Amino acid sequence: MSHVFPRHCHSDLPTAVAGDGCYLIDSNGKRYFDGSGGAAVSCLGHSNTRVRDAIKEQVDKLAFAHTGFLTTEPAEALADLLIAQAPGDLDRVYFVSGGSEAVESAIKLARQFHLENGKPERRHLIARRQSYHGNTLGALSAGGNAWRRQQFAPLLVEMSHIAPCYEYAERGDSESLADYGQRVAQELEDEILRLGPETVMAFIAEPVVGATLGAVIPAPGYFTRIREICDKYGVLLIFDEVMCGMGRTGHLFACDADGIAPDILCIAKGLGAGYQPIGAMLCSKKIYNAITAGTGFFQHGHTYLGHPVAAAAALAVVREILERDLVAQVNERGAYLEAELKRRFAQHPHVGDIRGRGLFWGVEFVADRQTKEPFDPSLGLAGKLKKATFAQGLICYPMPGTRDGRVGDHVLLAPPFIASEQELSQALDILDKAIESTLPHC
Ligand code: PLP
Repeated sequence: MSHVFPRHCHSDLPTAVAGDGCYLIDSNGKRYFDGSGGAAVSCLGHSNTRVRDAIKEQVDKLAFAHTGFLTTEPAEALADLLIAQAPGDLDRVYFVSGGSEAVESAIKLARQFHLENGKPERRHLIARRQSYHGNTLGALSAGGNAWRRQQFAPLLVEMSHIAPCYEYAERGDSESLADYGQRVAQELEDEILRLGPETVMAFIAEPVVGATLGAVIPAPGYFTRIREICDKYGVLLIFDEVMCGMGRTGHLFACDADGIAPDILCIAKGLGAGYQPIGAMLCSKKIYNAITAGTGFFQHGHTYLGHPVAAAAALAVVREILERDLVAQVNERGAYLEAELKRRFAQHPHVGDIRGRGLFWGVEFVADRQTKEPFDPSLGLAGKLKKATFAQGLICYPMPGTRDGRVGDHVLLAPPFIASEQELSQALDILDKAIESTLPHC
């Protein structure tokens, strides 16, 4: 009898005992191809020697030092490396233990920045529908997923949610992609004006939307317009790259694909690659200088900020990504994955859309391709696909509620950067079989 409080109380989970490259192995010896890196975490697979050694070395040297008293070599080196690669004038790194903590830090830093500048009235955060920013109360308030928010609604901070940039489901028939992008970006300016520009502190978005929409990329020009609007009204732009960053979408920082930089950027998942729990919030020189010139400290903090073992692991992860040029490999394997997904599924009567970037791909399922009508949620398609793929040794990330948190189904793929074409092809064989065995029952 287990005493672990699991995610689902009625699940009977196998026990993972080992990792081998792109595979997880359970106590019965069954191997699972990690086709979603858990949830876009395990970018280097499960047995990277360099990262494992870095952790062991760091534990032997120094396990912990509280950041209220001391800094550490791995945290300093990791911050230098990230800033050397970061877009725009991002200049400082605040290390935390995961994605939700990075987002909480970003929201609070945005607020404190305006306070330091003598603008206490700036308090509104604007986010987007169908986004996910984490499960702590602040991050959940920012997130726009109705299903995740519903039961905690009375506890959440009031925030605005504008449209996502989700052209497959929301672009008009006669509207060009560029026009659609401009139309939905305009919702930001409209909302800023509705709230009163002097009261808005920040806008937060995922450059490529992960868990809720399934690898949805923005329309060309969308984020350029978003950046213009933020600049026009003195609103900070926060990018949540917790899932799509760290090389996952073919650039070390996902927003490089759109050619713009945020004021604050959150990363996690691929930063520690699953070897250690770590996240980070990067902020611009302007923001850091405002804190320095003002109260002199960010009124925030957690015990495990900048944990040296986590930082040493992440330093080894980022060095691996850069020195082995794994971002180029993401683009190359990503092109293969895209071609294979389209070859196998683009004509499928129940596949509505295949979208993504790098090694981050989503397949959205529909009951009717012409009308794009989703399946009835009571059929539980995403859950059935998860079960069928897992039984055959594939871990992927099917999610319901793609359209509005209630209806719609997609599967998200985010395999390790080291996956070979053969491994990707075998994973798609399993997905193919699972789709064929599941859909007739829907
Ligand atoms: N932000 C995004 C975009 C995410 O996808 C996630 C997790 O899936 C989070 C934040 C929260 O990260 P964590 O689960 O590490 O707290």
